[in-house]
Amino acid sequence: MLKKSIFLFFIHVNGIIFYFQSLVKEVQLNKMNKIILIFTLLSVGFSTNNGNKNQLGEIAKKFEKNSNLIIEKAMNDSRGYDRLGEMLDTFGPRLSGSTNLEKTLEWILDEMKKDGLDNVHGEEVMVPKWVRGKESATMTAPWEKDLVILGLGGSVGTGPKGLKGEVFVVNSFDDLKSRASEAKGKIILYNVPFTTYGETVQYRYRGASEAAKVGGIASLIRSVGPYSMNTPHTGTSAYEDDVKKIPHAALTLEDAAMMGRMADRGLKIKVSLYMEGRSFGDVPSQNVMGEIIGSEFPDEVIVLGGHIDSWDAGQGAHDDGGGCVAAWEAVKIIKELGLKPKRTIRAVMWTNEENGLRGGNAYRDAHMDELDDHILAMESDAGVFKPSGFGFSGPDESLKILQDIGSLLYRIDSGIITKGGGGADIGPIMKEGVPGMGLKVDGSRYFWYHHTTADTFDKVDKDEFNRCVATMAVMAYVVADMDKRLPR
Ligand SMILES: [Zn+2]
Repeated sequence: MLKKSIFLFFIHVNGIIFYFQSLVKEVQLNKMNKIILIFTLLSVGFSTNNGNKNQLGEIAKKFEKNSNLIIEKAMNDSRGYDRLGEMLDTFGPRLSGSTNLEKTLEWILDEMKKDGLDNVHGEEVMVPKWVRGKESATMTAPWEKDLVILGLGGSVGTGPKGLKGEVFVVNSFDDLKSRASEAKGKIILYNVPFTTYGETVQYRYRGASEAAKVGGIASLIRSVGPYSMNTPHTGTSAYEDDVKKIPHAALTLEDAAMMGRMADRGLKIKVSLYMEGRSFGDVPSQNVMGEIIGSEFPDEVIVLGGHIDSWDAGQGAHDDGGGCVAAWEAVKIIKELGLKPKRTIRAVMWTNEENGLRGGNAYRDAHMDELDDHILAMESDAGVFKPSGFGFSGPDESLKILQDIGSLLYRIDSGIITKGGGGADIGPIMKEGVPGMGLKVDGSRYFWYHHTTADTFDKVDKDEFNRCVATMAVMAYVVADMDKRLPR
């Protein structure tokens, strides 16, 4: 019997990864060979575990027992995962200004109280309110097709009659500028393939004003994502002052790419567009939080969480309901194990990250005089996929300590702490000097779902979610309970 097998082993030694790949190829495996192979695998497996165990850092050694308790409990738990599902299914997506969001926040406060967390409360934040309303689009030439679209956050509507126009396809802002004379009176389509989020999101964020400057009557973007199953992606956008506000929406990757090909072939494309998007004045929302009060240094705080608001498409499962509930569950597990960390551990769910960052800013303002004693801020906002560790922004001295603590997480492959990282919501307090870290996860699927109707609970894997919980819980607990405070 011919078999080709690849065995990958990751062995971590003092923060350095040794990557072993053994390729057993085209080997005729008789019975004895199989036994030898299995024996070899087992011994490598054991030596890997023993190796890791022996390689615990100096700080980590003191926390091995409690850390293992946390990991066991998190990995065998289904309540955090179930709670995420309950939240998403009961209240739906949580756009700022929506009743869905406010109902979710009230429910979280009730549930945190039931968990017995300390100081459970909300802190009011005024947030912008934008409502999508109904929207639709049809390609009317060269043939007729209903288009799946998502208006971009903050977009104005088209008015009750909608608008019709010829589509002018461009590949970049430079392309638009160089052919500006052709753009007047047309619907501008930015058919820009995804490279990185930061690069491609520019067309979503400021595409409307750039299109309006050259006389466009509306602007469309190719959705910001590398892969699509006809799923448009929404997200925030902004208008420049003193530039006409025109409707701005995302097409699917498929439709945008098709129109790009049509334009290259010289076909005339026409689209009719109807959008009811509308902005209202600011409305109240809140950041919600609950904590375990530190047993020795209650004023010293480790804060962890995510943003509880989401876009209005899908359920905001990976972005960022999962991050919020995982951080909350991490704190709950530490509490249920009866561990009493020396410092306070606070789970925070920030509001209005998506289209305002008002929650992160309000938290900074409300806690400004406590920030000197905010020891570490941790955010999960890259989806609750399989975690590999954290990216950390702070002094190298602290990075070394966190890498030492990370060795406790080697057993679940999530102990790699790298330089540089954080999160949008903790950004404002990081600017005030609080060391920050972002949970790093397998990013291969995040932008498939991000800001689409497909960001739903079924996309969250329980084992991966639990690994996120365990990873955040161990890190938060050890930093909270170390003898020395983390230097900044
Ligand atoms: Zn997010």
